[in-house]
Amino acid sequence: MDAEHRDYDIAIIGGGPAGLTAALYAGRNMDRAVLFEAKGPGGQLLNTELIEDYPGFKSILGIDLAEVMAEQAVRFGATLVSSEVNGIRVEADGTKCIDTPNGEYRAPAVIVTAGGNPRKLGIPGEEEYAGRGVSYCAVCDGAFFRDVHLAVVGGGDAAVEEAIFLTRYASRVTLIHRRQEFRSQPILLDEARKNPKIDFLLDTVVEAIEGDDKVRNLALRNVVTGARSTFDVEGIFIFVGFIPNTRLVDSHVDHDKAGYYLTDPMTMMTSVPGIFAAGDVRSQLTRQITTAVGDATTATIAASKWVEEWRRGREEARAEAV
Ligand SMILES: Cc1cc2nc3c(=O)[nH]c(=O)nc-3n(C[C@H](O)[C@H](O)[C@H](O)COP(=O)(O)OP(=O)(O)OC[C@H]3O[C@@H](n4cnc5c(N)ncnc54)[C@H](O)[C@@H]3O)c2cc1C
Repeated sequence: MDAEHRDYDIAIIGGGPAGLTAALYAGRNMDRAVLFEAKGPGGQLLNTELIEDYPGFKSILGIDLAEVMAEQAVRFGATLVSSEVNGIRVEADGTKCIDTPNGEYRAPAVIVTAGGNPRKLGIPGEEEYAGRGVSYCAVCDGAFFRDVHLAVVGGGDAAVEEAIFLTRYASRVTLIHRRQEFRSQPILLDEARKNPKIDFLLDTVVEAIEGDDKVRNLALRNVVTGARSTFDVEGIFIFVGFIPNTRLVDSHVDHDKAGYYLTDPMTMMTSVPGIFAAGDVRSQLTRQITTAVGDATTATIAASKWVEEWRRGREEARAEAV
């Protein structure tokens, strides 16, 4: 690839719903856009079985939605590069240099749509039994646990949704949550409560995961009474949040306590001029496909305008210097 193809108007980091939407809008805006995706286009859609809350589709498989979004992004001219981005460096004139294992790309504007990774419990046995009974993805691993008792840990949408999903395979699913109240949507919780295969262990934390060649039991503690117990299960699915992929930029970017980028609500621009953020990397009330695509639409239109103004500013500065 020659140097010419490494200069773009907008670089998009991550090819989940937010990144693919940004690529679609950048293409339609006639901006030269490049999207970097480390794994495969679709992001978390690839770990989601059935989506029933994305308008326009009564229900659609995650992989099918990913495929349609990727096709649509490419149709409008965005370049998709299958590569991880190692980091983003901001030059003195505002140009962003995107470092990849195959060399550097450049663009005045960057939209970070890199999503996040599952948060770990950080307890003994979690790492040791990863892939041997500890999982962070029900769609990926659920089918390996047929007719057994599973535990799901967490209190948000993902935990409740995935507990329901796992009842397809497991004989029993125990949802373990450290509080009484759930953060998940009431409609999901209601569905879980009505499911005869699901029971609840509340005010309870998992202190260790134990077993032999695979998971056999959990060491539990009731946070109210302090009582400790051993709980027999053959698998544990952990859904206790995400760590956003927000460590790509070499300079400081304002973020919230959990590490999510703070953005201007009108433009999705971060505290670094020309760096925008959309989707799950952004500090916001909820993280859904709809919010990711909405953020990305705003971010891309704002980025396009920002690039135009940045170019005009540079030309004016050059003219003044002559
Ligand atoms: C199990 C599960 C079920 C869900 N169910 C639903 C649902 O039913 N409805 C709903 O609306 N939402 C659902 N969600 C949430 C939804 O999937 C996310 O909110 C959405 O995918 C966020 O999109 P995103 O583009 O911001 O990030 P992601 O989908 O996380 O995509 C980020 C992409 O960036 C890539 N990336 C990261 N770092 C780099 C790097 N350095 N270089 C290059 N690429 C990089 C990753 O590989 C990934 O593909 C679910 C999530 C999960 C986990």
